[in-house]
Amino acid sequence: MLKTEYDVVIVGGSHAGLSAAMALGRMRRSVLICDDSRPRNQISSHANNIAGSDGVSPEKWRQQARHDLEKYKTIQLINATVHKVEKRQLQFHVELSSKEVVHARKIILAHGIQDKLPDVTGFQELWGKSVFHCPYCHGFEVQDQRLGVVGSGAYVEHMLPMILGLSKDVMVFTNGASDLSKDFVTALKKKQIPLIQSPIACLGYEGQKLQFIEFKNHPRIERDALFVGPQLPISMRVNFDKQLGLEKNEMGLYKVAEMGRTNIAGVLAAGDIVTLQQSVVNAVSSGQSAGAWATFELLSEDFHQF
Ligand SMILES: Cc1cc2nc3c(=O)[nH]c(=O)nc-3n(C[C@H](O)[C@H](O)[C@H](O)COP(=O)(O)OP(=O)(O)OC[C@H]3O[C@@H](n4cnc5c(N)ncnc54)[C@H](O)[C@@H]3O)c2cc1C
Repeated sequence: MLKTEYDVVIVGGSHAGLSAAMALGRMRRSVLICDDSRPRNQISSHANNIAGSDGVSPEKWRQQARHDLEKYKTIQLINATVHKVEKRQLQFHVELSSKEVVHARKIILAHGIQDKLPDVTGFQELWGKSVFHCPYCHGFEVQDQRLGVVGSGAYVEHMLPMILGLSKDVMVFTNGASDLSKDFVTALKKKQIPLIQSPIACLGYEGQKLQFIEFKNHPRIERDALFVGPQLPISMRVNFDKQLGLEKNEMGLYKVAEMGRTNIAGVLAAGDIVTLQQSVVNAVSSGQSAGAWATFELLSEDFHQF
C-alpha cells in the first residue's frame, strides 16, 4: 500500500538507487523506491571488478541488496515506472505508471542510461557476451584473444592503449569515416596496428561468440571480442531534465556537484547518469553519497523549522 507522502522518492532501484536507499533507511527517513527492473547489466551473467563480490551474478547482487533493505522498515520498494516528476513549491509530485501520484520532499534520480549500439546485426545480439563497453568489466576474460576497438575519435584514442594491455592482437574499426588525429594514425602505422575504416556490414557469430566482422568494402576479419564506445550524447528513457529543468553536460549526463546535487534544489542524481566512469562500484558510491546528502538536507531543514 502506497503512502501519499515520503521524505524521498528514488527513481531506479538498482546499484545507485538501492545504495541511496540504504543510507536513508539507516537514518530512518521514509523512502519509496520505484523500479521497473531494466538494469543496464541484466544481460550479463557476471559482474566483475567489484571488490568483495567479483564475478557475482548481477541479478543475485540486486536480490541481495533488496534483501538487505528489508530490515529498514521505512523503505518501500515498488515495481513501477516513474513517468513524471514535477516540482511544486517545496514538494515534488511523482506520477507512476499506475497513474498513482505520490509526494516527496526530495528526489533521487538513479534511473541509469540506455545503451545505443551501432545499428548493425550482431552488436545487440552479442552485447555483454562478445561485445563490451568496458575493459575493466570484461577485458580480463578475453585477454590474449583477437580483439577490436570499434569507434572513432577520442574514444578509440583513449581505449586502444588499454586494450593493448590485454592482448597484442588488437585492430581498430572506425565503422566508416573517422576523426582520428594524424598523430594517432601515425602511431598506429608505426606499431603496425591495423586500422579498418570500412563500414561494418554485420558481425558473424555462433551462439554468443563473435566469429568475424563482415565489412561493406573490405574482406572479412576474424575477431573474438570487441569493445565499443558510447554514442554521445548519452540517452535516457524519460526526459526528467525537461520536466525538472535539470542541466546536462555535453555528454548528455546530468551536471552534478559533490554528493550528487543537481542545479535544482532537492533533486539529486547518482549512478551511470552522472558519469562516463560507469561501473557498479561507482554507482553504489554515488548512490550512497546522494542518499547521505538527502538525509542531511531533510534533517537540517527539520532542525531549522520553528
Ligand atoms: C552489458 C554490460 C555489462 C556490464 N558489466 C559490468 C561489470 O562487470 N562490472 C561493472 O562494474 N559494471 C558493469 N557494467 C556497468 C554497470 O551495469 C552500470 O554501471 C550500473 O548498472 C549502473 O547502475 P545504475 O544504478 O546507475 O543503473 P542501472 O543498473 O542501469 O539501473 C537503473 C534502474 O532504474 C530503472 N529505471 C529506469 N528508468 C526508470 C523509471 N522511469 N521509473 C522507474 N525505474 C526506472 C531501471 O529499470 C533499472 O532497474 C556493465 C554494463 C553493461 C551494459
